Amino acid sequence: MKPLMQAVRGMHDIIPPQTFQWQRLEEAIHQIMDCYGYQEIRLPMVEATELFKRSIGEITDIVSKEMYTFSDINGDSLTLRPEGTAGCVRAVINNGLLDVPRRLWYRGAMFRRERPQKGRYRQFHQVGAEVFGLAGPDIDIELILMTARLWKNLGLKNLQLQINTLGTPEERLNYRKILVAYFQEHYSELDAESQQRLEHNPLRILDSKNPNLQSLIANAPQLIEHLGAQSRAHFTALCEGLISCNVNYTINPHLVRGLDYYTLTVFEWVSDQLGTQGTVCAGGRYDGLVEQLGARATCAMGYAMGLERIIALLEQQDHDELLEPSNNIDVYLVMVGTLALERGLVIAEQIRDAIPALRLQIHCGGGSAKSQFKKANRSGARYALVLGEGEIERKVIGLKPLRTDEPQRDLPLEGIGAALEELYSDGLN
Ligand code: ATP
Ligand code: MG
Repeated sequence: MKPLMQAVRGMHDIIPPQTFQWQRLEEAIHQIMDCYGYQEIRLPMVEATELFKRSIGEITDIVSKEMYTFSDINGDSLTLRPEGTAGCVRAVINNGLLDVPRRLWYRGAMFRRERPQKGRYRQFHQVGAEVFGLAGPDIDIELILMTARLWKNLGLKNLQLQINTLGTPEERLNYRKILVAYFQEHYSELDAESQQRLEHNPLRILDSKNPNLQSLIANAPQLIEHLGAQSRAHFTALCEGLISCNVNYTINPHLVRGLDYYTLTVFEWVSDQLGTQGTVCAGGRYDGLVEQLGARATCAMGYAMGLERIIALLEQQDHDELLEPSNNIDVYLVMVGTLALERGLVIAEQIRDAIPALRLQIHCGGGSAKSQFKKANRSGARYALVLGEGEIERKVIGLKPLRTDEPQRDLPLEGIGAALEELYSDGLN
């Protein structure tokens, strides 16, 4: 026998009944996006490698070591998208969507070649929202509020909101010098990774998870103390807006986010129930990116959430109503005998014409009435419809409740759709 093929490491099938959970989650997200007036944008999964280099930044973890990059046959360097913002910005520029403010959202698979572990996969799924042409802080608040409402609608608890501000690029550059001077003073206390970051991306040292560095980081100078009046006012308004809307937050001065393009507001929703992969949703303002990619300067802000981590959290918090697969069949059609088989398919289609929303499964593969009823029972359907030679002769179809002791009764075949529709509207569902 040939060896069995396996899925690529870090890439997972999502199979029933898990798919039910995913559908429920996606429905809840879709509803939030609709309610806040966001429009869906669908983007390619592959982009020119250059796009990610220019937007995310060459020295970030994503671009330097996590991307799936390959040469197309014509020699173009292409990359499986590691995130959605870069592609979304490219798309709004290419399609001339920056004429008026836009509120957009996307969903789909992302690819990063990371070490697979719980909550960290090589193919994972994000939903993101991106807003263009609004300078905030009102829109910053809205973006955070809609995520807070999503947690509420999903019944998720114990998610903490952390916020910070990264100021303007100039303020950050100035702060960077102050920070580098501080860490240089403590160079020997840094780990190898942070020593490397000191050269290229010193702010990321603040993000280090190394426990030995935590006190050094805690004592580091904070960007928030080196902001200009405007940046400070933006941040104050953000905080005040969240307070008026009853959204609790903590200011985390070390929240710098992995990506280069953020300015001013950054935020993360973090859970302590997911181990080290605790960030469920992360976002921020990126006022410079549109211009950096060659279009007229346009301010922008967005977030992305990791669906695998939300599903994991729902499971942890026992949200059975979301996780239990809802029974996906209402009625199971049992057909005994050749004639019934022929007529059954026709009748099933008539019923579907009459009640488009009815979830009707027909028995395929023949077999005795007994074995078909067993399958009908196991299907979870509330009713079996029964068609045998006798029923056809009498021009009826049997209706047998499967979840109560009520006896089977006959419904006339003529106008069966209408008869069932009446039952259906009475709560057969
Ligand atoms: P982390 O610090 O966990 O690596 P990140 O900063 O790289 O996260 P973002 O680029 O901000 O993550 O992506 C937004 C969200 O997407 C994360 O908060 C997380 O929920 C999810 N996510 C990111 N990378 C992965 C992955 N490899 N597997 C599963 N989910 C992921
Ligand atoms: Mg990462």
